[in-house]
Amino acid sequence: MKKTALSELARRTGEPAISWLMKLTLDHPKLISLAAGFTDNASLPVAEAQTVLHDLLASPAGRPALQYGSTAGDALLRELTAVRVQSADGHRDARVHDPDRTLITSGSQQLLYLTTEALCDPGDIVLVEDPTYFVFLGITQSHGLHTRSIRMEHDGIDLAHLEQVLTELKRAGELPRLKMLYLVSYFQNPTGRTTSFAKKRAALELLQKFERAAGHPIYLLEDAAYRELRFTATDERSALATAFSHRVIYAGTYSKPFASGARVGFGILPPEIFTAVARIKGNHDFGTSNLLQQLLARALASGAYAKHLPLLQRRYAAKAARMTNAIREHFPAEVRWAEPQGGLYVWAQAPRRRTTGVKSRLFQAALQQGVLYVPGELCYGHDSARRRPNHEMRLSFGGAKDADIPRGIERLGRVLQAG
Ligand code: PMP
Repeated sequence: MKKTALSELARRTGEPAISWLMKLTLDHPKLISLAAGFTDNASLPVAEAQTVLHDLLASPAGRPALQYGSTAGDALLRELTAVRVQSADGHRDARVHDPDRTLITSGSQQLLYLTTEALCDPGDIVLVEDPTYFVFLGITQSHGLHTRSIRMEHDGIDLAHLEQVLTELKRAGELPRLKMLYLVSYFQNPTGRTTSFAKKRAALELLQKFERAAGHPIYLLEDAAYRELRFTATDERSALATAFSHRVIYAGTYSKPFASGARVGFGILPPEIFTAVARIKGNHDFGTSNLLQQLLARALASGAYAKHLPLLQRRYAAKAARMTNAIREHFPAEVRWAEPQGGLYVWAQAPRRRTTGVKSRLFQAALQQGVLYVPGELCYGHDSARRRPNHEMRLSFGGAKDADIPRGIERLGRVLQAG
């Protein structure tokens, strides 16, 4: 008799770090958490949501909003979403930013999960940035996938390294197992770096060069979760605006720029992937909460969303400045970091000898001082080509209260200075 009834997937799946990090934060209200990527509490659009929901429920649309909807999502929200991304991309081809290719999901996290499931079987390979979004690594681990990590430069992935890895996979006869490249392209989680449009295009060109040897398309999964959380006016176009849009799966979210509690996300997908992902979503939940989709659709249509966004951008820019000012004052000079231009994170790199992992003295000492960060090691996929780095910290200024940001950094600085 088998000792467990659990599936192979369940047995493979470790406890996601995000779950215990968030629980640690919620269980210890006195702990200053610079860890979990919570959004800013003070600027959540409570009044805007109240108006929108009141108007919605007072109108004839109130009843359908409390009813099941369709798997692909509310028609108006799909339309407004496609138009919004299209205008950000300054792109004229309506076949690319097409509402029919736009799928509303329960957070963009669901899109990442469903897309991975639609493309990958156990043993398949996914290319990721080194480091990458650690929750995505949970998805690949759970599905029994192998990751190969592509080094990063200040403006995104290192194209020479991407080519080198693709060539190695080709030589080893492993390209038929390669399905996609996953990029967190705007103010990356965890490093805060943005991949330039030119690099995205060049990466797609490279992937295409290797498709013949792979025997199938190789997709770019572009995760644009932080795109709208920029501190400056300039926006980088997405990979949908390249000539390779038929190989691009674009993941976006309304969590960060509006309300993370609503968890409304979306994808813009090539038609064949859209069909596969929508079918799997049908089995998952046959549609994201209609009420929450209506909240977003109406916030977008009324202009409440557009009005709220710049306030939020200024708020996060101010919180980022609070954090970097405190880092400048309290961290030893040997710790390197960069001023974020958007997003929620500062990536702090200690010298290699200073380990920062969950089991390190530093992490434990920080906890004792009442401050929590995300150990950098969690953000690195397993890759036999290199040792997993363990000397970095992801520091989030998203959820912490204003006064707690310098306080938390000061405590962390003390721990770092103690050596
Ligand atoms: N992608 C990245 C890079 C993220 O950081 C997050 C949230 N931490 C998500 C996707 C998922 O966010 P949501 O499901 O709320 O859209």
